[in-house]
Amino acid sequence: MATLQLTQVAKRFDDTEVLKGIDLEVNDREFVVFVGPSGCGKSTLLRIIAGLESATSGDIVVDGERINEVGPADRGLAMVFQSYALYPHMTVEDNMGFSLRLAGVGKAQRRDKVREAARILQLEPLLDRKPKALSGGQRQRVAIGRAIVRNPSIFLFDEPLSNLDAALRVQMRIELARLHEELDATMIYVTHDQIEAMTMADKIVVLQAGEVEQVGSPMELYHHPRNRFVAGFIGSPK
Ligand code: ADP
Ligand code: MG
Repeated sequence: MATLQLTQVAKRFDDTEVLKGIDLEVNDREFVVFVGPSGCGKSTLLRIIAGLESATSGDIVVDGERINEVGPADRGLAMVFQSYALYPHMTVEDNMGFSLRLAGVGKAQRRDKVREAARILQLEPLLDRKPKALSGGQRQRVAIGRAIVRNPSIFLFDEPLSNLDAALRVQMRIELARLHEELDATMIYVTHDQIEAMTMADKIVVLQAGEVEQVGSPMELYHHPRNRFVAGFIGSPK
């Protein structure tokens, strides 16, 4: 089980209100996509959910428990970033197991968890390689593997495919959909790419200037956009 509720989540940096009271429900095992133009607050919202940034006000509740004051390592969430900075001197296996090592997980158990994640991501033949001997897509899979080994209840992705070329992005979208099935996990995925949102989401959250413009399934937003902004962003081809 992993549900998430945000109630009136706001964030202010100095005198700028970057998030203006976000209300949102994410259901167990849902694939939810946050979409909106650059600067609208997508990454800030994800970082607040992850606990990497604190909300100025509002509540963040996971499975019925308010987690505002819970540290990022104890939230049961794992985040995958756009720039997936792998440790260059470590093998794929050590990169994937590093957070477990920090958490004091023993070598044998670490190995089992990394092998299982490598199987899911089809990285088994690459476990002994260093990052520089990997393609962009393989590196991104290692970054996802680092999240999987921690067995999170909710995955948070911040534009994970934006550094990949168009063909690889299509392939990775399919892989992420398969991963969502196989792991039975709740996933929150940030993108500014409408096509990614339309093809991957159970539910799309359209953000603009720190506010939720509309929430709905891809078809609901496509056929019944609430306003011109949503229509321009999702509804009609440009
Ligand atoms: P997005 O991910 O949608 O592109 P961000 O969440 O990164 O948007 O940023 C939203 C707004 O908050 C932007 O105007 C950005 O400049 C501002 N912002 C983000 N982080 C900080 C920070 N640490 N200090 C001040 N302003 C910030
Ligand atoms: Mg961002």
